[in-house]
Amino acid sequence: MERIFLTKYIIITGGVVSSIGKGITSASMGRILRSYGLNVSAIKIDPYLNWDSGTLNPYQHGEVFVTSDGMETDLDLGHYERFLDVELKGLANITTGKVYESVIAKEREGGYLGECVQVIPHITNRIKEMIRENSESADYDVVLVELGGTVGDIESQPFLEALRQLRNEEGRENVMFVHVTFIPYLDAAGEFKTKPTQHSTKELRSVGINPDVIVCRSQKPIDDGLRGKIAHFCDVDFEAVVNTPDADTIYEVPLVLEEHSIGELIVKRIGLNIKPDSSKLNEWREVVKSLKIKEPKVNIGIIGKYVELEDSYISIRESLLHAAASIGVKANIIYLSSDVEELDQDAMSELDGILIPGGFGERGFEGKLDAIEYAIENNVPLFGICLGMQSMVTQFARRNGFSGANSSEFDDDLKFPVIDMMEEQKKIKNMGGTMRLGSYGCKIIEGTKTYEAYGESDIEERHRHRYEFNNDYRDGLQEKGLIISGTSPDDFLVEIIELPNHPWAVGCQFHPEFKSRPNRPHPLFKAFLEAIHDYSKN
Ligand code: GLN
Repeated sequence: MERIFLTKYIIITGGVVSSIGKGITSASMGRILRSYGLNVSAIKIDPYLNWDSGTLNPYQHGEVFVTSDGMETDLDLGHYERFLDVELKGLANITTGKVYESVIAKEREGGYLGECVQVIPHITNRIKEMIRENSESADYDVVLVELGGTVGDIESQPFLEALRQLRNEEGRENVMFVHVTFIPYLDAAGEFKTKPTQHSTKELRSVGINPDVIVCRSQKPIDDGLRGKIAHFCDVDFEAVVNTPDADTIYEVPLVLEEHSIGELIVKRIGLNIKPDSSKLNEWREVVKSLKIKEPKVNIGIIGKYVELEDSYISIRESLLHAAASIGVKANIIYLSSDVEELDQDAMSELDGILIPGGFGERGFEGKLDAIEYAIENNVPLFGICLGMQSMVTQFARRNGFSGANSSEFDDDLKFPVIDMMEEQKKIKNMGGTMRLGSYGCKIIEGTKTYEAYGESDIEERHRHRYEFNNDYRDGLQEKGLIISGTSPDDFLVEIIELPNHPWAVGCQFHPEFKSRPNRPHPLFKAFLEAIHDYSKN
C-alpha cells in the first residue's frame, strides 16, 4: 500500500478498573481505520517486570499469544490480529522487563559512559525508541499504542511520561489520546455514576495528558445528559464522549464506535488525509451478523485444566466462534475441567464435539485421556491441540498395545515414552522463551482429512512446546492404524495426526487458533465444525 503520510499515533489508556475492554476498544478503532484502507499496527505495553508473558500463569493472565516470529505475548495481541487481520511482530509487545533489560545492557556495554542512568530520560527514551522501532518496521500509517493497567498505577508512570513526550516530539497534530473508563450503575441509587471517570481523567491530566476522546464502557447504554456531564467535567468535546455498552459479540464494538462517528473524529483529529466512510465496514457488518445467529446450535466441550478463567483459551474460543459462524451455526462452548476423578457423563453426553487444548504439567492429563476415550467410543468429533494432540497419541498408544504409554513430560522412567522432549530442548535450562516457538512450515499428506481441510500441502503454523511425537514409535503406531497427516517439510517431525475409523479426530502439534480471523476461519477449525454439525444432526 502506498504511504499517505508519516505515522500517526493513537494512544489508549484506561481508568477506573481493569478488564473493561481496552484491548477490544483499541482493536476496534484499528478495524475502522483498516476498513478505510490504512496500514495499521498496534502495540501493547505491559508495565509488569516479566520480560514476556511466557512464564505467566494462564489463570492470572489468560492465554499466552504467540506471534509468528515466536514471541510469547499478551492476549491483546490476539485481539489486534483478529480485528486488524494482520500479523504482528513480537516487538509489538513492550514490557517493563524488556525496556529495563535493554537499558541495563547498554549501560554495561558503556553506552551511557559518564552519565547517571535514570528513568527520565533513559528509560523514557528507550520506551519511545521501542514504539518507533515497531512503527518503522513496516511504514505504518497509524499505530495504536495501548497502555496496560489503569492510570495511577506506579509502574505505568514512566510509560505515561514517555507517551506524553512522544506527543510533543511527533507533534500534537499527529498523536491523540483515548481514555477508556467504566461508568458503574448503582442499583440502590438507580443511576449511573461518572465520578470515577472524572477522577481517572484528572489523574491523567495530572501527568500532562488531556484525553481527546473518552470511551465510556457500561453495562447498559448511557444517555446524552450523562455524556454531556462527562464532557463538561473532563474537558472533552461532547461528540468525543463515546459510549460502548456491553455488546452481544466483541466484533460488534467497531460498529458501535462507528455509530458515534469515531472514525471521522480520529481522521479529523490526527489529520488523516482520507475520507471516512462508514460503508467500508459493510463486510465487517456481514461477519458480525453471522456471528450473532442463535440457531442451529452445537455444543462444543473444551476439556482442559485452565477452565476457571475463560481467557486462558481465548483464541480457541474465538476460532470456534469464527468457524461456526462461517458455516451458519452457533457454537455453544462448554468448559469442562479435566482435573477430576471422573468426567461428568451427563455433561459429556450433551457434547457434539470435543476439543482438547494445550497445556503444561500432569494435572488434568488423565482426564483429557478419558475425554478422548469417550470421543473414540462415541464417534464424537475430536480436535486435539498441542498437549491435546500429545494426549491423543498417548491414548491411541495405550489402546493399541503400548500399555502405560505416556509423555516424558510427566514421567522420565517410561517403557513407552510416545511423546518425548525434543533433542534441542534437552540442554536448555532457562524457562523463558526457550520452547519451540513461532511459525514453522508443515507438509500435509494428501488423502487425509487434514488435506481435505487445508486443500493444500504447504502450510505454516505457530508452535509453543518442548515435547514432540517420539519417532521411535512412528512405525509401530502407524502399523496400528494411526494416520500421520502432517510433518515438518523434511519429514522428520510429526506435526499432525488423525485417529482411524472415526468421523473426524485430528490432533496438531501447533496452535492453529492463533491464525483464525472472524472473516477467515482457520481451515482445521472449519472442518472440525463441519464434522460437529454433521454429528449433531444424528
Ligand atoms: N506441555 C507440552 C509441551 O511442552 C504441550 C505444550 C502446549 O500444549 N502448548 O510440549
